Amino acid sequence: MSTEISGAERWLAAIVESSDDAIIGESLEGVVTSWNRGAEHIFGYSAQEAIGRPIQSLIWPAEEDQKDTALLRRVVRGERIEHFDAVRRHKNGTTVLVSLSMSPIRDSGGRLIGVAKIARDITSRVALEQSLIASSDQVRALTDQEARARAASLANQRFRELIENAPDGILQVDSTGRIILSNRTAETLFGYTSDELLRGRVDDLVPEAHRRGHAEHRANFAKAGVARPMGLGLDLYARRKDGSEFPVEISLSPVKTEAGGVHVTAVIRDVTERKRTEEQVRTLQESYMAELKARQKEAERLNHLKDEFLASVSHELRTPLHTILGFTDLLGEELEGPLNDTQREFVRHIHRDSEHLLGLINDVLDLSRIETGQLRLHAESLSLREAIFEAVSGIKSHAEARSVDIDSDDPGDLHVIADPVRLRQILYNLLSNAVKFTAAGGKVTVKVRRQGAAVRITVADTGIGMSREDQAQIFERFYQVTHKTGGAGLGLAICKQLVEMQGGSISVESELGIGSQFHFELPLT
Ligand code: ADP
Repeated sequence: MSTEISGAERWLAAIVESSDDAIIGESLEGVVTSWNRGAEHIFGYSAQEAIGRPIQSLIWPAEEDQKDTALLRRVVRGERIEHFDAVRRHKNGTTVLVSLSMSPIRDSGGRLIGVAKIARDITSRVALEQSLIASSDQVRALTDQEARARAASLANQRFRELIENAPDGILQVDSTGRIILSNRTAETLFGYTSDELLRGRVDDLVPEAHRRGHAEHRANFAKAGVARPMGLGLDLYARRKDGSEFPVEISLSPVKTEAGGVHVTAVIRDVTERKRTEEQVRTLQESYMAELKARQKEAERLNHLKDEFLASVSHELRTPLHTILGFTDLLGEELEGPLNDTQREFVRHIHRDSEHLLGLINDVLDLSRIETGQLRLHAESLSLREAIFEAVSGIKSHAEARSVDIDSDDPGDLHVIADPVRLRQILYNLLSNAVKFTAAGGKVTVKVRRQGAAVRITVADTGIGMSREDQAQIFERFYQVTHKTGGAGLGLAICKQLVEMQGGSISVESELGIGSQFHFELPLT
């Protein structure tokens, strides 16, 4: 240092000396050239110890700081560096954190001759900052913890509310049968307050008659340790505080305790209302079934009466009709004297209509006898050729009168098992329908086809045919497509019954305006 110092320089030196910050002068080679009291205080070296020694060996940390060296280079180039944080070393070896500013020192000619450094000790500030950060982290951790605790307590509260308001009674029972948890519905169901329930035992809620076995059931359930409905298939009852009983449905589930024991949660549903409804439905069903049975019986009785009435009326009508037919025959033969044309016409009318009436009465009688099971068949082996021949001969004159051609296959010597009278009746019925519903010039054919152990007989015509809807109904009693043809709608119903009674079935294929085919099968001998 120069001994010739001006007043201004002295003034400046005094400021430097009194500063709390370290103010250090260094040569371009890094040798300390000045060291104020602030530097002595911050770094522990006296000015005497420091001046003349390389700064690096004094206060730089063990490993060289690349950042410092780079900054220093910038200062040497003439730059000024303000306030950067750096780590330095105290004489006693401890670390000192400083905020450093550096500026170049020039001589009076402007030549760079050294570097001035000002270092402010920020160790305590950094420590304070770090402790602030640490405490804010702590605060944050505490807040998180609190938030979690609050969420858990909210969830707990919601869960509690859920249990309290569940539509079923819920109880938890320990291994000795003591109630340790109950919800509001359980209180209402059993008529106890919550305190009474929690002081009581679950066995008190069981009807007296079942109490003895209950403790054993409880022990068994805890041992098995699987959730299940209680008393499956049994009618369970529970007991209220006032001693009254009510039907319940209970499902049980085991809950393992932390101590290794087993508690049981019971969910109890009052099924009084459901049982009442079930009972009502059952009573209603029973009375309905009883009424249905009574009506069925009455219907059967009336039906039987009707059949009996029909059978007896038909029988009573047949006798006088036979008399009328007999006498009109006699009159028609004119053995008792000649008839004039008008009388002959009258007699013919009486005879024809009486025959028609007799046919109708016979049909009604047949059907009622079939339905009351009174019609007995006398099945025998028959020549199919003879049966068809007879039926065709019976209808031939009628067909000719209507200009309908009639023809049949020759069945050879096929023999069927059938009642001869009833087979003739079936064939005659189908043939007369075919002729009746076929216009002049049309054709009716009887076809025979063997089918294994049976024979299929078809009566086909080229008549008016019928719609699909009519085909589905013509075998029903009294069904007619048109009422203008004079029948009663019984013929096909009788045919169906007679064919089925002989082990066959009858069906129809038809097309409007093209014709119909009626098929039925009979067993071969
Ligand atoms: P009905 O005595 O009135 O002829 P059926 O039971 O024999 O009674 O026949 C019932 C109805 O079926 C007939 O009224 C007629 O409408 C129809 N039907 C029967 N056979 C034929 C046929 N071959 N062609 C067209 N329609 C027929």
